[in-house]
Amino acid sequence: MKLKATALAVMLATSSGLMLSGCKTSSLAPEANTAESVVINKSEIDKRSYQYKLLDNGLKVMVISDPDADKAAAALDVHIGHLADPKDREGLTHYLEHMLFLGSKKYPTVGEYGEFIKKHGGFNNAGTGQEHTNYFFQIDNDYLEPALDRFSRFFIDPLFDPEFVQKERNAVHSEYKLKVKDSWRRFNEAVKQTANQEHPFTQFSVGNLDTLSDKEGSTILETVKEHYKKHYSAGIMSLVVVGNYPTEQLMQWAESKFSPVPNNGYQIDSNRPAPFLDNQQGVKIEIKTLEDSRQLTLQFAAPSNKPYFEQKPLAYLGHLIGYEGEGSLVQLLKQKGYIKSLGMGSYGPDDFVPMTVYVDLTPKGYQNIDEIVSNFYSYVDLIKTDGIKKSTFDELAKIRKTAFKFQEKFDVAYLASSVAGNMQYYPAQHALDVGSVYKDFDKKLIKSYLDQITPEKMRMIVVAPDVKSDIKEERYDVPYSMKPLSEANLTSWNKAPKIAELSLPNANPYIASNLTLESNKSVTEPEKVYSEPGFNVWFENENEFGLPKSSLNIRLYSDKIGANPQYRAAVTLHDKIVDDLLSAESYPAQVAGLYYSVSGFSRGYDINVQGYSEKSNKLLSKVISTLNPDLITQETFDRIKLNLIQEYKNNKFEWPIRQMYSALYEEVYETTLSDDVYIAELNKLNLATLKSVVKDVLSEVEAESLYIGNIDKDDVKSMVKTVKSSIDTQFKDGLKTDVKTIQLAENKQKVRDVAIDHNDSTIGYVIQADDDSIEQKAKYQMIAQMLGQRFYDSLRTKQQFGYIVSLRPFNFDNTPGIGFGIQSPKAHPSILKAKIEEFMAQQKDYVNNISAEEFEEHRKGLLSDLEKKLQNSYEKLARLKSDLVEENYQFNSREELIKAVKALTAEQMAEFYASEIASENKRSMVVWNIGKAHEKESSYKASAYDLCQASKCVIEAFN
Ligand SMILES: [Zn+2]
Repeated sequence: MKLKATALAVMLATSSGLMLSGCKTSSLAPEANTAESVVINKSEIDKRSYQYKLLDNGLKVMVISDPDADKAAAALDVHIGHLADPKDREGLTHYLEHMLFLGSKKYPTVGEYGEFIKKHGGFNNAGTGQEHTNYFFQIDNDYLEPALDRFSRFFIDPLFDPEFVQKERNAVHSEYKLKVKDSWRRFNEAVKQTANQEHPFTQFSVGNLDTLSDKEGSTILETVKEHYKKHYSAGIMSLVVVGNYPTEQLMQWAESKFSPVPNNGYQIDSNRPAPFLDNQQGVKIEIKTLEDSRQLTLQFAAPSNKPYFEQKPLAYLGHLIGYEGEGSLVQLLKQKGYIKSLGMGSYGPDDFVPMTVYVDLTPKGYQNIDEIVSNFYSYVDLIKTDGIKKSTFDELAKIRKTAFKFQEKFDVAYLASSVAGNMQYYPAQHALDVGSVYKDFDKKLIKSYLDQITPEKMRMIVVAPDVKSDIKEERYDVPYSMKPLSEANLTSWNKAPKIAELSLPNANPYIASNLTLESNKSVTEPEKVYSEPGFNVWFENENEFGLPKSSLNIRLYSDKIGANPQYRAAVTLHDKIVDDLLSAESYPAQVAGLYYSVSGFSRGYDINVQGYSEKSNKLLSKVISTLNPDLITQETFDRIKLNLIQEYKNNKFEWPIRQMYSALYEEVYETTLSDDVYIAELNKLNLATLKSVVKDVLSEVEAESLYIGNIDKDDVKSMVKTVKSSIDTQFKDGLKTDVKTIQLAENKQKVRDVAIDHNDSTIGYVIQADDDSIEQKAKYQMIAQMLGQRFYDSLRTKQQFGYIVSLRPFNFDNTPGIGFGIQSPKAHPSILKAKIEEFMAQQKDYVNNISAEEFEEHRKGLLSDLEKKLQNSYEKLARLKSDLVEENYQFNSREELIKAVKALTAEQMAEFYASEIASENKRSMVVWNIGKAHEKESSYKASAYDLCQASKCVIEAFN
C-alpha cells in the first residue's frame, strides 16, 4: 500500500480543483524492512512492552506484552472495505466478513471458534468499513495460543461452506433490513446519490439478497471466494497480539501462525475519480427524514489528512469550529435558539476527507438556516484573520500529550483493534500515540484546509421531515433533491459581516498543572469517612491505576419523585436544562480531561465528576450550583422542552428490538414510564411548575457520595463544603426510596403486545428467579453462560430467524433472571416464542448430561468475566456505586457471587434447569410486537395467548 501524499494531492488538485500548499511528503506506508528495531512511542507510565516486526510475507505485526492484563486479545485488519466491492456486487466485502468465520480446513465445525472464545471468558467481533475490515477477539490469557491458531486459519484456509452461503446472505439481508429506518443510514445513502457515481464511496455498503444473489455465470459462492483470493493478501494486513506473555513468546506465535498467510502481491489502488463533480459543489441538498428532527450539514471535500498526522490541521480546525465556550459560534447560535448542538468531524476514505460540520437544529433554527450559515462564515473569517496561532496549537498539544500520558486502560480487544487499524496508515513507531503527536505547527497547511471552506465549494445538506421531492434513493426509500445555491446566497455568505459576540477561545482554565500522585495511599477499601444526618461519604484512595485522577459520584435522594409522572417529567427535563446551562463552562473542562454528568431520575439526582483531581472541585461547584431552578430562563425552558419532546417522539424510529426492551422495562420497573406519558406530561409543564417541582424535590435531600482516586481525606472535607455551599437544601436521613420491580407468578404467563411500526417482529422472553439470594444469582448467570452461544448458533446461524438473537442474564433490579431476545424478518412472534420454548426443552438433555470437563470450562468462562480486573476508574466507580446503591456497605457483592459460582455443581444446575427454566412452573413474561410482514399470519390465534396491550398489564404484581 503505497499511498503517496503528493500523488494524492496532485490527483485531487487535477480532478476536483482542490489545491494544497505546504505539501509534506510524510510516507503513509509503514517503513519497509525496519524489523525489530522500531521503538514504539509509549507513555512513560505505561508498563507494557511492545515489539514490531514485518513478517516475510509482508504482514505487519505488533505484539504487546502486558504483565497486568488478565485477558489476552488479537486483531487483524485487512486494508479492504466496501469501496473495493465490484460495481455489480455491492456489499460483497461485508458479506465476505460474514462468511469468513464459518469454519476452516483445520477447524471445520461452524460455530466452534465462537464457542471456544465464549467458553474461555471472551468475545469476538468484526466490522467492515469504507477501507477496512477489522476482526478481533478477547480471551483468557491461558487460551491465547489455541485461539490464535483458530483465528489464523480463517486467513489461510477458510472453508466457505456452501451450506452457509444462503444462510449468511439472509443474515446480511436481515442486517440491512434492521437498519432500513436508521436516520444515519438514510442520510448517508441519500448523500451518496448526490456525489460522483464513478467514485466507489457512493456504492451501497451493506448488501442484501438482491446484490448477493447468484447470477448467470457467477454464483455468489464463486464470487466471494474470488474476492477473498484477490484481496486477502498478507501485504495489506496488520496484526496485533496482546497478552501477559513475554514479547518474544507472543511474536513467535504470531510468526508461526501467520507466516502461512499468502501474499499475492495485491496493491491498494486509491487512484480514484473526484468524489464530487463541479455541479455537486456550491449546492443545497435536501433530504427527507422520518423523524421529527432537523439537521444542517455543511460538507467540504479536501485531500486526505492522514499524511499530516504530525501537523493535525483538521484536529486544529475542528477544535476551533466546534468550540463551545464563551464567544463561540455554538454559544451564539444557542442563544438565538437556533441549534441544539454543533460539531465538526472529518472521517473519510483514503483519497479524500469530507470536512463536515454537523448542526442539530431547533424548529426555529430550521426557519433561519441562511442566517446560521452566514454566522458560520463570519466565524470562519474570524479564524482566517486571527485564529491560526501557535499558542492554540501548543495548548491542544499539551492537553493531548497529558491525555496520552495518563490514559485509562480499556478492553485489550479494542486496544488491539485500534492499533491494528493505525498500523495501516502510520509508522509503527506512532501506532499508539498518533492522536497526541503534535509536532509542527504549520500555519500554511492549516490555512490550506481552511481555504476549502467556501460557499462555492460547500455542499449544504438540510435534513427535515417536510422535504418533498420526486427523486428517491431506492434501497432506503429516501426522497431527496439537489440544486445550486443562489447567487444571492453565495454573495452574502462571501461577505458575511463581523459579529461582535464572536471571539476565539481564551486560555483554558481547566488545564491541570498539578499532576503529581498523592503519596500516602492507604485506604484500599471504601470507608465511610464523613457522616452527618443526610450526608454520608465513602472514600478510597488506593492508587491502583497510577493516575492523577479522581472519580466522584454523589446522589441526592428524594422521596418525592417515584412514579409521579409530573415529577418524573420535570426532573428529566431539568437535567437536560442543567446540561445546557453548563455547556459553555463544561466544554473547556472536557477538552482538558474533566467530565461531569447529571441525571434526574425516580429517586433524585445522580451526579458524577471525573478526571484530573486538581480541578474537579471547581467543576463540581459549578454543576451543583446550576441545579438552582431560578437560573432557568423562559427561552432555555421552551427550547429544551421542545427538544426533549422530540426525542421521545423519535424513539419510535429506534430499532424494533430496542423499542421492545423499553416496553419490557416499563413492565418490570414500576417507575419506568412510557414515552407517551412523558410527552403528555411535558406538554402540560410550564416554567413556573418546573421551578416549583424542582424546588420541592431539592428542598430536602439525602446525600450519598463515593469519592475515589488520587485524593486524601482533606479533599473529602472540601468536597462536602463545596456541595453544601452550592445548594440551598435540608440534608435529611430516610429519603432514599426503594426500587419496585414486578414479581412474576408461577405458571401464569402474560404476553404484552406492543405496537412497533416495522416489518420485523421482535420478542423479549424473560424468566425471573423466585428470590434474590446469591445462589440464585449464580445459577442464572451460569445458565446464561452455558446456553448463550448455543441459543445464538441454533436460532441465528442454523435456523436463521434473524440478525439479532441473544440469551443473557436479565436482572429485575436485585432479583436475577435470564432474557431471550430476537428480532426477526422471518417469523411471527408466536413462532419465535414457540422456538424459544422448543430450545429450552431441547437443552434439558444437554444440561443433564454435560460432562464434568465441559461444565468446568463454562464455570471458568463465567468466573473469568466476574474476576476480570478493573481496568480504569470509571469501571471501578460503577462497580462500587452499584454496591452502595444496593446498601451493601461491605462492597463485596462480586466476591460473594464468585464464591457462589465456585460452589455450583452440575447436578444442582440440572435440577435448577428442570424446575425453574424448562418447566411449567417458571415465572416468565413475554413482550412482543407483530411485524408488518407477519400481520396476516394465518396460523396465529390471538386467543391462545394471555394478551394485554396497555402498559402495566400486570401492575397488580408489584409489591
Ligand atoms: Zn454484518
